[in-house]
Amino acid sequence: MTASSTDFRSLPLSPAMLANLQQLGYLEMTPIQAASLPVALLGKDLIAQAKTGSGKTAAFALALLANLNPRRFAVQAMVLCPTRELADQVTTEIRRLARAEENIKVVTLCGGVPLRNQMASLENGAHIVVGTPGRIMDHLERGSLNIEALNTLVLDEADRMLDMGFFDDIATVAHQCPKERQTLLFSATYPEGIARLAAQFMRAPQTLKVEAQH
Ligand code: ADP
Ligand code: MG
Repeated sequence: MTASSTDFRSLPLSPAMLANLQQLGYLEMTPIQAASLPVALLGKDLIAQAKTGSGKTAAFALALLANLNPRRFAVQAMVLCPTRELADQVTTEIRRLARAEENIKVVTLCGGVPLRNQMASLENGAHIVVGTPGRIMDHLERGSLNIEALNTLVLDEADRMLDMGFFDDIATVAHQCPKERQTLLFSATYPEGIARLAAQFMRAPQTLKVEAQH
């Protein structure tokens, strides 16, 4: 249970973003959004736990978009996902939410697609990258992905990434990110590895858990 408002208008969002949310049919915040957005929009690190289908993507997407300067042509946010399918879903959702802003470019970086195509997309300029830890590491090692201007790092479905053995890759990527940044970690469950990840590279994260409704 939470006492926080479920009205998106209670958040520091632009009128254009509020109108876009209405158009998308997002009339009220879901419980995880109502619990996490007031904290995330203050720029604080967050560990948020809620079941699948609870609207976690918009919870981190609105936060990373708030940190983003569309006129700065550099990667400012990165979302790590366990699979290509999930990365594609996150990219789609961020693009829908980003419609309210001017020309925000989101590039998906996952295995199974030629590196060369992704390098070309990155060269054309990206504000946000979404991808799997292995492929993102690959681009960092080759120098095709520059994250010096990154201000938001998101770990989505962190429990699944740990199940898939991505702990070391996540740690490597996180250590290459600028220290001055916001880190948001979303997960359906809270296995021990999450606390270890958080201890390594999050700053006094607030931990939130929204119980299943039924
Ligand atoms: P999760 O990542 O927690 O599994 P998603 O972010 O994929 O959940 O969201 C699940 C579905 O809910 C998506 O279809 C999304 O468009 C929709 N959704 C998210 N937030 C809202 C909202 N505030 N109002 C209505 N629908 C929403
Ligand atoms: Mg999700």
